[in-house]
Amino acid sequence: MAELRQPIESGAPDPKPYMHPVMVKNYGKWVFHSHPRPGVLYHRAESGDEIWTVKAGTQRQMDTYTIRKLAEIADKYGDGYVRFTARSNIEYMVADEKKVEPLIKALTEAGFPVGGTANSVSMVAHTQGWLHCDIPGTDASGVVKALMDELYDEFVKCEMPNRVKLSTSCCEINCGGQADIAVIVQHTKPPKINHDLVANVCERPAVVARCPVAAIRPALVNGKPSLEVDEKKCICCGACYPPCPPMQINDPEHSKIAIWVGGKNSNARSRPTFHKLVAAGLPNNAPRWPEVSAVVKKILSVYKADARPWERMRDWIDRIGWPRFFEKTGLPFTKYHIDDWKGHRVTFNASAHIRF
Ligand code: SF4
Ligand code: SF4
Repeated sequence: MAELRQPIESGAPDPKPYMHPVMVKNYGKWVFHSHPRPGVLYHRAESGDEIWTVKAGTQRQMDTYTIRKLAEIADKYGDGYVRFTARSNIEYMVADEKKVEPLIKALTEAGFPVGGTANSVSMVAHTQGWLHCDIPGTDASGVVKALMDELYDEFVKCEMPNRVKLSTSCCEINCGGQADIAVIVQHTKPPKINHDLVANVCERPAVVARCPVAAIRPALVNGKPSLEVDEKKCICCGACYPPCPPMQINDPEHSKIAIWVGGKNSNARSRPTFHKLVAAGLPNNAPRWPEVSAVVKKILSVYKADARPWERMRDWIDRIGWPRFFEKTGLPFTKYHIDDWKGHRVTFNASAHIRF
């Protein structure tokens, strides 16, 4: 019998073989950095070595031709070294300042905007469940494309009070994380069960266990094993759909988009915060989601005009207060913005909720 290969549990691979040699030489010994223009960062090391990083946006889902084009630009105009950020920006590192402007020109002419640094609107962090996950309610990558087409100017300029991080998530469980503005799918009705299919394709114990509020029970329907949902308990989260596709929750009429504001992962300048719901029930209107773009642009324009220099979105809202946020943005505040669900006091979800 062939020898089985042992798994290698060594964590992330060593990045140094792929790093720019100036970065390897000065690893951990940087003394100064600045931001000479939008999309460019400058770093100087203790040794006096210098490096410039040029950041460009990409279309996120990339084919091999696009990746080859980006690599050719690195070989011809850069030093042959690149890295991708979590938001699918590409960054080129060069050790000669004279290379910066030709590199920016080459990227811009090839359709990759240079920007996304400092107080700009950064590229949208997004989930891409439409391609690989089992519960997406929308194509988050499409929302990103539609949004960034509208926000192009804010990506290539640095005119916001502070950096603005956006995210989109293709289901309500939201692996997209916290953001200054987050665009998240919102289901508005409990799942509708296709009982004919449940017995054939569904792992019933897995579905029952999956529900965070214990709203699903096994049931006999028309003499066959199936499931039932206690609709008073159901919070329309969509978690039951992956182990049991017959629990249909995606629906062109009732699956909507919601916008949440004021989340922050980092603890720079102020504490990390959870984002909060500010707009609900927007249509999931592919391929351009104009209603979503309109709300995001409105929030950004009010923040840009009203926040003080270096206030992050949440710092600004904390200063003016949530009532003024709704007044200034013109977004309606409704009863649906108040989290009055008592059930979270007795579930594992309790820690993440603000209680009323
Ligand atoms: S947001 Fe939801 S659907 Fe999208 S990738 Fe994450 S878990 Fe999957
Ligand atoms: S949508 Fe969520 S809360 Fe409702 S039954 Fe499914 S898992 Fe439970």
